Formats: sequence, C-alpha cells, structure tokens
Amino acid sequence: EAQKETLGFQAEVKQLLDLMIHSLYSHKEIFLRELISNASDAIDRLRFDALSDPSLYERDADFKIRVSYDKEARTITICDNGIGMSRNEVIEHIGTIARSGTKEFFKSLTGDKQKDANLIGQFGVGFYSSFVVADKVTLTTRRAGTPASEGVRWESDGKGEYSLETVEKPTRGTEVTLHLREDESEFLDGYRLRSIIRKYSDHIQLPIYMPVEDKEKQGEEEVVNKASALWTRSKSEISDQEYKEFYKHISHDFSDPLTYLHSKMEGTQEYTMLLYVPGQAPFDLWTREHHHGVKLYVRRVFIMDDAEKLMPRYLRFIRGVIDSNDLPLNVSREILQQNRLIDLMRSNATKKILGLLNDMATKEPEKYETFWREFGRVLKEGIIEDHSNRDTLAKLLRFSSTFSESDKQDVSLETYVKRMKEGQDKIYYLIAESYTAAKSSPLLEIFKQKGIEVLLFTDPIDHFIETELREFDGKQLQSVSKGEIDLSKFTDEKEKEEQQKTASEAKDLIERLKTVLGDKVKDVRTTNRLTSSPACLVVDQYGIDPSLKRLLEANGQ
Ligand code: ADP
Ligand code: MG
Repeated sequence: EAQKETLGFQAEVKQLLDLMIHSLYSHKEIFLRELISNASDAIDRLRFDALSDPSLYERDADFKIRVSYDKEARTITICDNGIGMSRNEVIEHIGTIARSGTKEFFKSLTGDKQKDANLIGQFGVGFYSSFVVADKVTLTTRRAGTPASEGVRWESDGKGEYSLETVEKPTRGTEVTLHLREDESEFLDGYRLRSIIRKYSDHIQLPIYMPVEDKEKQGEEEVVNKASALWTRSKSEISDQEYKEFYKHISHDFSDPLTYLHSKMEGTQEYTMLLYVPGQAPFDLWTREHHHGVKLYVRRVFIMDDAEKLMPRYLRFIRGVIDSNDLPLNVSREILQQNRLIDLMRSNATKKILGLLNDMATKEPEKYETFWREFGRVLKEGIIEDHSNRDTLAKLLRFSSTFSESDKQDVSLETYVKRMKEGQDKIYYLIAESYTAAKSSPLLEIFKQKGIEVLLFTDPIDHFIETELREFDGKQLQSVSKGEIDLSKFTDEKEKEEQQKTASEAKDLIERLKTVLGDKVKDVRTTNRLTSSPACLVVDQYGIDPSLKRLLEANGQ
C-alpha cells in the first residue's frame, strides 16, 4: 500500500547536479555543512511555529542534530527533529529550484571550473552538494504535527530521477543518509567528521551529537560543537574564521564576507546585531524579492528571514542577525510594520553600517573599491531614500572623473573638493548614458583646457542623485550641460578680448541660425565652452537633461 512513484528532476536541477559534482570536487567536505545548516534551519522553523501551536513539539522539545556513520554500510546519516516536510513539500523543495535569480545564474555560467565553482557557491549549493560524495541519497522525513504513517522517503542517485514513497516515521523531522561513492571512504572516520563539523558548524546554536568513538561506551553520544549562538558570545572569544563560517551559514554564500560588525546594545533597549557586508553582489540584487537578508531573532529564537523592516532597501545586500531581548516572541510581520523598537533598531543598524563603510573607505580604500564595484549603485539609492543620513551617504559616493584614466568610479566628492581650482566654487558634473559617451562629450573641452575636473555621472540612478543632491560641503553641484557656465574667472584678459571679438563677428551668423532653426530651439548663442567642436546643444538651467529625457522615454514615462 506504500505507493512508490518515480519523478523526474526539473531540468535546471539536473544541470545543477552535473555542474556541482564536477566543479565542487575540491570543496567536497562542505556537503556536511550544508546538511547541518538545513537541519538547523528546520529546527528554527519548528521552534517558531510551535510558539503558536505547541502541539508541534510532539512532547519532544529537546532540539538536536545527530551525525553518525556506518563503516560497513558506507553511509553517513544526518538527522534532525525539526519541522520536517510533507510529501508535497519534498517535491517542491527537493525536486525543484524555486529561487529568484535562477535564470541569471545559469546564464552566467562559463564552463570554467574555477569560476563556475564560485558562482555555484554564491548561488547556494545546498542539499544537492550531497551528490558530490554520494552516489545515492535517501531522505526520510515527516512534517511535525502529522501522523507517523505520513512519513515520506525520497531516494535518488542524482542522475535525473528520484523516487517517493510513503513510510512509517514515528519521530518528526528529517533524516538524510548518504551512500558514499567508492573513493570517498575518508569520510567514514569519526575524527574527520568531527573536525569538519568544528570547522564549519561550530557556531550552530543547536547541539550536534555524534556517537562516542570508544568501543566500550557503545550507544553513548557526545556534543561535538560549541552549540551556542555565535552572536551571544563575546567578541574576544570569537575567531575571524568563526565569524566567516557563520556568514556562510546564514548567507548561503560560498566566499568570505568583505567585512562585518558585531555589536551589543544595552540600555533602554537590548539587542545584538551581527551584520555582514558580502564580498560580491548576489544574482538577485536587482529583483524585487530576494530571500536571504537580515534574520530577526527574539531572545535566541528565530522569528523570520529577510525582515525588510530591519534594513532600509538601499542596504538590502547586508546579511546577518539582529536578536532583540525586548520584542514579544509572537511578533508578526504586521507588528513589525509599525513598531517603535524596530524603527530604533533599524536606524541604529543603518548608522552602524554606514560608519563601518566609512571606516573601510578611509582605512582600506582597496577594499572599499571592491565594495563600491559590487554595491555602489545600490548604495546610491540611499541618497534618494534616506534623507536623515544624506551627508554620510554623500561622502560614500564614488564617481568616475575627467581626472582619472579609466571608467572606474573612484573619486569621492571630498577628493573633488580638495582638488578644486583656486577660485572655483562649484562641483561640475556631466550626465551621460555611458562612460564612453561622457568622455567624448564636447561639453568637456573647455574644462579640460582650464584644468577643471568634471565628475562623470553615468549610471541611470545618477539622474536622481542630481535632483536630490544639490550641494556638498557648501559647494553647489552644477551640470556642465545646463545653462550658462561662467568660467570667466579662469580666463585672462587676452582671451576675454578674443572671445568678445568672436562674439561680435558671429552676430550675423547667430541671427541667421535663429531664423533657420525657428521654434526648434529656445536660443542660439556663442559660447566659450568649446575649444575644438563647432557647436553643441545644452539645456537651460532648469530644463530636463537630454539623457534623462531618453531614459524616461525608454521607461514609458
Ligand atoms: P536552502 O537551504 O538554501 O533553501 P537547500 O538546497 O539546502 O537550499 O534546501 C532546499 C529546501 O529543502 C530548504 O529550503 C527546505 O525547505 C528543504 N529542506 C532541506 N533540508 C531540510 C530538512 N532537514 N528539514 C526540512 N526541510 C529541509
Ligand atoms: Mg540549505
């Protein structure tokens, strides 16, 4: 009666499996980290659901993860008493990839093993990493709160199909058994497994048990990790390595974070935050929904993922944990929407992150360059979104400039101001659709000639920066394509005379042009801003910039 059916993997899963087996070979031990991470997530979810439905505990609130191995059978088993999965959930979560950014991920694969391994890691290796070391995986699970008869057994060799079967499972939760490949015997070793667990999963706040190795003490188990939430420990006790592993656990990222901050707030409100800046932008940075953000905990109990109220949108790339001692345990998304404590935590966390970035920019400019390359365009949204931190944000901005050789955005407004010419009182910028277009603009000729720096605004969002950021450090920002630019201060008498001469000589020409062009233009005038081009188009001081006009039109506005 236990009907068994065979189903095919989603095409992307097959492709991912193939890739993974080939490119993760040199990192194969991470399968254990991934399975333990899933077990820990599953227990977190149970703990949260049980707050409102205590029957889910099934009289077992002793949360734990177990890892064991069997030399004869050549298996490793990872077992948890977490939330478990129903039949449909198994099909949905284990047979398909339902993650935002999946398409972009497959598109960005190159065929180069090293590069792809990184991409896969960044995408999240997850459950399928089991197949790097196993040629068969059996997963038995039961959703908490369902009868023992509703257990589900999933089994696959990772080649394209899996089988599903209904089984009896007295305990809730999930058990994953890996049948190791011929050449993976190294993992059938208690010391090796313990060392992998300590390396990657020490920070998991749940106890991870293994049977003791001593033959005399058969049947006894011992805890092999530290089993306390990393962020609750004091900074001096936590190694850089542990911080990094914790990041990989919560972010599902494969590579190290760029930096992090760990801070305990005491006083009117008590909370701890451990926040990370990733080393690279995720695939889904530009999609509306993206699923791993800042996790909210209340007194060590996991409450929710990606609590968007904890971070402003322009810091959506930040990963980490905020653990509050004051929020109610039954806090819901609705409560979060308008909670004073949340608002305070968010504004504080935002300030801390901006401070961290500012420190990085001053003390580790190369690191900041990486940061800016990956996240600069997102951070710029802050200028529009977060008026209260505008001054700090303005200092963090980087632009390309006529003073740099490449399109790298590495000039800050502060640097610009420091380099301003004697008597210069404005910050000049040019808006263009691309760096190449900007660089070759005739509008820059006169500035080049006078040795005045012009910042190049070449990201679409710069149009909005322009309208929001009117000045910096008391200096007005001035577009070189708008209105009249008065550089007479930088012109000597002889030049002035020549200009006046040119202007009077051109009088007739100007009149003719005005007649010919008629309504097509507002005005025609001689200019001193060109040195080699005969003419250029400009808008008046309050007109819409031509490249913004094109951008708006492209967006149907
Ligand atoms: P991720 O953890 O990034 O979501 P995984 O591939 O590791 O990706 O896991 C896919 C999904 O399978 C999880 O999101 C979860 O829904 C489900 N899952 C995996 N392992 C377990 C487990 N031990 N208990 C319950 N659900 C699990
Ligand atoms: Mg996972």
